[in-house]
Amino acid sequence: MEITIHAVAPERRKDRPKDAELVFGKVFSDHMFLMDYETPQGWSNARIVPYGPLSLDPAAMVLHYGQGIFEGLKAYRGADGRIHLFRPLENMKRFNRSAQRMCMPEVDIHFHLQAIETLVRLDADWVPRSKGASLYIRPTMVASEPHLGVRPATEYLHYVITGPVGAYYPEGFNPVKIYVTDEYVRAVRGGVGEAKTMANYAASLQAQEVAKKKGYTQVLWLDAVERRYVEEVGTMNIFFRLKDELVTPPLSGSILPGVTRDSVIHLAQHWGLTVHERPITIDEVLDAIAMGTMKEIFGTGTAAVISPVGQVCYKDKTYRVGNGGVGEWSQRFYDELTGIQYGDKEDPFGWVHTIVA
Ligand SMILES: *Cc1c(COP(=O)(O)O)cnc(C)c1O
Repeated sequence: MEITIHAVAPERRKDRPKDAELVFGKVFSDHMFLMDYETPQGWSNARIVPYGPLSLDPAAMVLHYGQGIFEGLKAYRGADGRIHLFRPLENMKRFNRSAQRMCMPEVDIHFHLQAIETLVRLDADWVPRSKGASLYIRPTMVASEPHLGVRPATEYLHYVITGPVGAYYPEGFNPVKIYVTDEYVRAVRGGVGEAKTMANYAASLQAQEVAKKKGYTQVLWLDAVERRYVEEVGTMNIFFRLKDELVTPPLSGSILPGVTRDSVIHLAQHWGLTVHERPITIDEVLDAIAMGTMKEIFGTGTAAVISPVGQVCYKDKTYRVGNGGVGEWSQRFYDELTGIQYGDKEDPFGWVHTIVA
């Protein structure tokens, strides 16, 4: 499929904020990619147009029944000025798995990547040059058919928007305090927790508000059935350094399979570390903290890469992890992953996809 391009005239391009003033998710680049789906014809009308509001019927099914999915990845500018994506096909594949789960049409992964490359090339000036900053890319698909009544839609809109984002840790690599909720759950096995679908984030808001009111940055989610097994932290996967082994919960169906999670597992194995994907209960975590065998806890996700956890609160008791600071392994994973992403470090796994100018 051809992608038609309606570029913004150079004199009408927006001003780009300074890298130091960037906040996450507030500013968007000059262009966006769109294409339409209709049953039975399939995808058509792939186009890049000036960034702006969509026209959706008020009866568009996504607005009523939440049939919508998204992805999140970044474009990083290397010291030599070239622009890199990190394992982008993993995001495109996960987009299709989310689509399948939500009874939505798939998008050819190579075409999807080509659309993103074309968009980023056109908005290359929007990819920040300072270290730690990047261009966030948000592929999205929504049910656009105007229809009331619960069933899969017959019409969809796929679009990709991008926007520059600042360094996640402007004041240095910083541990967070997390609040374990045993009142709310994020996802249940058999539900939609392993899909990057909108409902999961709507469902998480209330617990996040409670945690924030109590002075915590993120919620630690337990399994929905027994409320014992650790699942995720906020919108990140979670890792534990127990003595000198890495433990992370298995992809049981209610956990989002993170690309960063997978990358940490690969790196750890490459370094000869032992990694266990196994269920771990909150009691095991707290006991290990008490005994001093829990050396580090960290979250993983595209936005922060690695997010060290300094403190855990469960049933109104707080526990300090290690010395409350940034652990040695957290720092090592962070340095290695960001080094690979920006093209500063060797890429033994072929993870970096450079956009040819
Ligand atoms: C996106 C997401 C992650 C992290 O996935 P990455 O591919 O590493 O960015 C983890 N958990 C949830 C709930 C997510 O939405």
